[in-house]
Amino acid sequence: MENLLICNFCGRKKNEITFLISGINGHICNFCIEKTYSIIHRKFSIIEQKKENNQFFLKKPKEIKTFLDQYVVGQNEAKKVISVAVYNHYKRIQFIQNQKKEKEIEKIEIEKSNILLIGNTGTGKTLLAKSISKLLKIPFTIADATTLTEAGYVGEDVESILSRLLQSVNYDIHSAEKGIVFIDEIDKISKKSNNNPSITRDVSGEGVQQALLKILEGSIINVPPQGGRKHPDQKMIPLNTENILFIAGGTFDGIEKIISDRINQFSDIGYITQAKEKIKKEKNETYLKNITANDLKKFGLIPELIGRFPVITYLNPLDKIMLKKILIEPKNALIKQYQKLFYMDKISMNITDEALDIIIDKTIQLGLGARGLRSFCEKLFLDYMFNIENIKNILNIDKNMVKEKLSCS
Ligand code: ADP
Repeated sequence: MENLLICNFCGRKKNEITFLISGINGHICNFCIEKTYSIIHRKFSIIEQKKENNQFFLKKPKEIKTFLDQYVVGQNEAKKVISVAVYNHYKRIQFIQNQKKEKEIEKIEIEKSNILLIGNTGTGKTLLAKSISKLLKIPFTIADATTLTEAGYVGEDVESILSRLLQSVNYDIHSAEKGIVFIDEIDKISKKSNNNPSITRDVSGEGVQQALLKILEGSIINVPPQGGRKHPDQKMIPLNTENILFIAGGTFDGIEKIISDRINQFSDIGYITQAKEKIKKEKNETYLKNITANDLKKFGLIPELIGRFPVITYLNPLDKIMLKKILIEPKNALIKQYQKLFYMDKISMNITDEALDIIIDKTIQLGLGARGLRSFCEKLFLDYMFNIENIKNILNIDKNMVKEKLSCS
């Protein structure tokens, strides 16, 4: 009788399975339990995902900015502009989805709000893009425009940018199509840029810009899953870039001169002296706040490419006060990170204000924005971490210790 028992879900006999669980009117085997569990699990994660997506739509630009404030110090204008652009981007996606459902409505096209961030190195361009992806919990990838070349030259195809996005989500096309791509050093593909390490790239840089257009505007792109040109036989994956948000960043060295020349020429004609005075006052800050599409064109970006970035904003250079805040204030500020590392060895690490000032002075001298902070901190803490077992409970870092470790006079 025992051996006649079967699973009432799949029909397997008792001797074909590991165990059967009996219910009131029948039995279920271990295979069916596993299968139903995975179905339920998948369903639940889809529901959770939907919930998260819906939750995002509730986030208004001000809330997005408040989130960014936790990670990014200063850069209020950029944070404001990005918050609105991202909000509109996801409203646009919602709008497209609704329009697909209600065909009779007269079609209105809302353009993509790809963002162009301009600012010195180490001022928070990548951090801003990363923080946005953290907020939205969506796929994110960083691509370096300097390695991109036109087809036929040594380097990477522009499509490889999307390969990385696909790889980051394990080739889940659906989620990749809603991701964010950060293209760093976009200024290095400008027509006039001599900074590119690849002399084998098309000389003008225009070819790469042209190739980028298709990806940015939103169309179906055939993406080489493994990227690069080393695998010519790979089967391409079609990816729709319509809903991918592109954020590009660049330092655009020399663009301030272009802006200032334009402004000064404008005010020298004789009118708007008031504006001239105002700008003079602003000279101590940055000219970038006056940037226009024309300045970018002069710099060497083709108008079509500029057109694909309707949202342009700038990041301020970081002064001492901002650098100090970066060290100690954000949610994952560097000093907090080191304190946590020491704390895991039951050591309470404290650092004096004067000691922080020395790190900041050194960072300013280096001229790499906040990027320098990390390397100086690494240098400062290296020996203490190496000899961690010799530290008993407390580590107080003062200015002399910093001077010694960073070899300052
Ligand atoms: P870039 O502008 O060159 O893209 P990043 O965003 O990569 O600069 O910044 C380099 C590092 O400096 C980041 O990891 C971050 O820790 C820090 N950083 C730069 N700017 C800021 C900022 N405004 N607020 C907080 N941290 C910053």
